Amino acid sequence: MHEYPITQQIVKIVDEAARKQHASRVSKITLVVGELSGFVGDSIHLYFDIISKGTVAEGAEFSITYIKSKLLCENCLEHFERQMYSFACPRCGTDGVPTDIGKEFYIQDIEVEIESSQNNSDGE
Ligand SMILES: [Zn+2]
Repeated sequence: MHEYPITQQIVKIVDEAARKQHASRVSKITLVVGELSGFVGDSIHLYFDIISKGTVAEGAEFSITYIKSKLLCENCLEHFERQMYSFACPRCGTDGVPTDIGKEFYIQDIEVEIESSQNNSDGE
């Protein structure tokens, strides 16, 4: 349920970014969600479709890049994905320690469509 307020934030950021570029609509949003971020991408997508209604972001393609969490082996400095039931480094067998990889949560890209009918009227 905590995906709702964060999705409101996302729609706000996207809306502001689109306005700044005088975009008529947003065509695609790419979100990066780490496995350990605490957010569920599917829920955000669902809320996005609801919250974005009536904004320039309505109907935008919503793409999510998931990042798997990784452990660090302090023995051989290898970063690796944790296996089921095991924290062991695949190279040397030492148990890995948690890292920040997988805690990512940010908007990677916002693609907008700019209306061309409004020719360059000298700008600001
Ligand atoms: Zn190792």
